[in-house]
Amino acid sequence: MKIAIASGKGGTGKTTIATSLAHLAATDGRTVAYLDCDVEEPNGHLFLKPQILREEPINKLIPVVDADRCTHCGLCSQACRFGAIACVGQQTLIFTELCHSCGGCLLVCPQEAIREVPKPIGLLRIGTSGPLQFVEGVLNVGEAMSPPAIHAVKDAAPDVDLTILDCPPGTSCPVIESVRGCDHLLLVTEPTPFGLNDLKLAVEMARALKLRFGVAVNRANTGDREVWSYCRRQRIDILAEIPDDRAVAEAYSRGEIVVESVPQVAECIRSLLETLQSGAPA
Ligand code: SF4
Ligand code: SF4
Repeated sequence: MKIAIASGKGGTGKTTIATSLAHLAATDGRTVAYLDCDVEEPNGHLFLKPQILREEPINKLIPVVDADRCTHCGLCSQACRFGAIACVGQQTLIFTELCHSCGGCLLVCPQEAIREVPKPIGLLRIGTSGPLQFVEGVLNVGEAMSPPAIHAVKDAAPDVDLTILDCPPGTSCPVIESVRGCDHLLLVTEPTPFGLNDLKLAVEMARALKLRFGVAVNRANTGDREVWSYCRRQRIDILAEIPDDRAVAEAYSRGEIVVESVPQVAECIRSLLETLQSGAPA
């Protein structure tokens, strides 16, 4: 079973919940993997403190033009939807930061003047945290394209009973790449106008991708009740209500797994884990 933990905005407690779910499930005796797909800013390692056993470069394929074969016909430039290749006079230029490695330019080139070469974009780190399998991707600073790195993290996932995917915040390409293929999606939000706004965007994304999803409300005893009204109107299951507790912030600041330090929250997360594993949300 693959459970993705996502949120429309950052700072809602997504990693706190993802690391806690993974840690709890692993200590219950199941084989569990935690994948940190937030490759632009992975921070699950701060709490799980994994022993890294292997590191591998993450590459993406980028086109290279053979100047001797290229006739500067411009077909590759017209085919590229990302503006990553341009014919300027007697030169065919490639902007590797914009390239999505789709291979389209190779297909259209009548001279077979384009080949692909690997370009390092980040680092894959694989290890263990106690009984938990750990995989994270770290995108190189300045690298704009995170989906290939997320893809590499998912490809490196071990074969286990339960996989927890800690997704990047937002609702754009990196999140879609992270949640694709998951069995359940948990959307973490907080009861504030910003939280609700970004939850609505995340719900639209989940519905467009036809994913089974539910909501966890973090800091549930703060803010207003609009998240609950919205979920009721939209017939969305709220699977967990996690209270705001100073002890959570203190445990977080010490880099501790919250379920180890705050029993009240551990109870909530355990019940959430059981609900997710039982097949909910619908
Ligand atoms: S399609 Fe091929 S031949 Fe035409 S400009 Fe691009 S690389 Fe050159
Ligand atoms: S591989 Fe795709 S994205 Fe990259 S330059 Fe070619 S057509 Fe554009």
